[in-house]
Parts: sequence; C-alpha cells; structure tokens
Amino acid sequence: MIYLDHAATSPMRPQARAAMEPFLGDTFGNPSGVHGVSRRAKNAVEEARERASAILGCSPGEIVFTGGGTESDNLAVKGRALLGGGGIVTTAVEHEAVLEAARFCERLGSKLAILEVDAQGRVDPDRVAGVAGDDTAIVSVMAANNETGVLQPLGEIRTAMSGRTALHTDAVQSFVSQSVDLAGLDLVSLSGHKLGGPKGVGLLYVREGVALEPLVHGGGQELGRRSGTLNVAGIVGMVAAMEAAVADRERFRSEVGAARDVFEAKLAGVTTPTLDTARLVQHSHLRFGGLRNETLLVLLDRVGIAASAGSACSSGAATVSHVLSAMGMTSAEARECLRFSFGWSSTVAEAEEAARRIVEVLERQSGS
Ligand code: PLP
Repeated sequence: MIYLDHAATSPMRPQARAAMEPFLGDTFGNPSGVHGVSRRAKNAVEEARERASAILGCSPGEIVFTGGGTESDNLAVKGRALLGGGGIVTTAVEHEAVLEAARFCERLGSKLAILEVDAQGRVDPDRVAGVAGDDTAIVSVMAANNETGVLQPLGEIRTAMSGRTALHTDAVQSFVSQSVDLAGLDLVSLSGHKLGGPKGVGLLYVREGVALEPLVHGGGQELGRRSGTLNVAGIVGMVAAMEAAVADRERFRSEVGAARDVFEAKLAGVTTPTLDTARLVQHSHLRFGGLRNETLLVLLDRVGIAASAGSACSSGAATVSHVLSAMGMTSAEARECLRFSFGWSSTVAEAEEAARRIVEVLERQSGS
C-alpha cells in the first residue's frame, strides 16, 4: 500500500516506539503516587514535559498534556469561553474540534463569530482584529488547514491583535514541517499521532497567566487544568516523536516536499490544483474533473493507494467538506477533490509510482 494519508495519521516513528517500550512493561507506575514505582513514571513525564518545553521555547509549567488534538482544541476554546462567558472568534475552515467546541459554548451563551475566508481558505487578519472586542475570550485560527494544507497569516494576525485577547492556534498539521513561534500566541494545540507518535495523546501550550476553566475534573493532575491519570507511555512517545520530527524537519521539507511536487507534476495533465497560495509541503489537494471522490477513493484503494477526501477525522460521513464550501466551491466541485498527504516515511519513488497508478486508473475509467 502506498500510504498518502499522513494528515489522517502517520505511522509511528521508531524513536517513539523505542521511547514508549519501558512504559508498556516494567515502568508501569501511576505518576501521581509517592513510592519508587510511581516516581519513575513521574520522572519520565516531567522529563518529557521539559523536553517538549525546550522544543517549543516555553517553560515546562506552560504545557498541559491532553488526550489528543481534539481535546487540546476543546480545552482552549471551552476553557477560555466558559471561564467568564466571553466571546469566541474563529474561522469557517477550522477543524471540527474547534468549530463544534465553539458552537457548544454559543449554546451556553457565548457570542460566536465564525469568519469567512477567501477562495484559498485564508482569513483576513484585519477582519479578525476588527471583530475581536473587549468581550472576546479567545481568538482561534489554525496554523495550517488539515484538508488543504493552506497556511493562515498567523504572523499578521498576532500583529493586528497585539495581545488584546487570548490567541489560540491549532498547529496539529503544521508542526511536523514547521516550527511554531510562540510570540504573540497564548494557546497552541498539538497531537501525537500526526507527528509519528502515538494516538490519543496531545498537548496544549498555555502561556503563563492565561486562565482556563478545566474540562475534566478529578484528581487535579496537570496543575488542575486536566485531571486524570497521565498517559505515561503516550506522553513519552509523543515527545520522542516531537524531537524526531524537529531533528528531521530540514530533510522532511526538502525530500517529502520533493515527493509531493513530483506527484503533482506527474498528475498535472489529469488534475486541477485547487490552491495557489502558501501551503504545507506535505499536502496535495487535487480536483479530478468529472469524477466523484468517493468512487475514486475506492478505485485507488484497489490499486494500493491510501488517500482521503477531506478530513479523515469525520470519515464515513459523505458530507461535503465545510472547508471547501467556505472557500466558495460548489458541492459538485468539492466532491471531485481528494487530499493526498505525505509524511516522514514517504519517498519520491512512492510518489512517482502512486501518480503512475492514478493515471492508469483514470485511463481505465475514461475508457470504460
Ligand atoms: N486539529 C487538526 C487540524 C487536525 O487535523 C486533527 C485531526 O485530524 C485534530 C485537530 C484532532 O486531533 P486528534 O486526532 O489528536 O484528536
């Protein structure tokens, strides 16, 4: 199988697996305990926290480990809005984890502004700054879109906002190929499994002094911001994957980017690129005129290519992508689009072979 669905999830990096191994066996303690068995687990978590903070350029106390990107987004959005009933400003192309959390808060009384985007899926920074007011508890704009890979103008947004309210970014898709600059950001979501780490673990960077209402109440772990026994193996694995991703970024950007470019070049005659703006090196979003993406995905699966139509997080639902709709595509146009996402294990040879198989599939379709 040629795996071109890394935006849905990436295979585990060997470094993450190796780091997790002891915590799936003998080092099984609950990090909240006081005895030696617990201490070993606690030390591992605290070392992972320090290493994650060194990567991000923050202090260890600013990291809250969570159960994944979805929970990190929920904690940011609900945690801010539920604190004092303040408003939420976000964009129409955010991941459902942000949009649905925001809609939930709206049902509880928060004012919600979902900003439109341009045909490339980018929000206007001045519009963000214009809509965010004194009663806004959080502005949430993703670093890069999970379906298209399009980068939001985060730098301009932070300048335009100039610290007026808490600014959150979902960097779940971007982190593997782009560093996050924390300047001007108050909250940042990351997820382990998009980096070659385990599923079901993530983190939220919370700038010191930024208050959050916890969502999960209980034993007060994570300084009361997220109760629950810590996922020791997951945390250690995710941080090992973060380190491996950072060490591999330069190669990733050139080699994985080259694989994506070769793939697109080889398909140039049979597809229409949907984007013409700054985007992640690992994403390819293509339109196959006259073909339904659901049909195409099945045909590609048969020839050993794993891709996806839109967000795999909600796969199974044959709904039209809210991202593409927000970009102004008609339902018919959106249904002709597929996402191919490359990752740390992708090669140029795979990209070439995938493109060759796709062309063959398309030729068979047009001949049938
Ligand atoms: N945010 C973005 C941009 C994503 O792409 C995803 C998953 O696809 C998530 C959040 C959710 O992350 P997780 O799968 O760790 O819950």
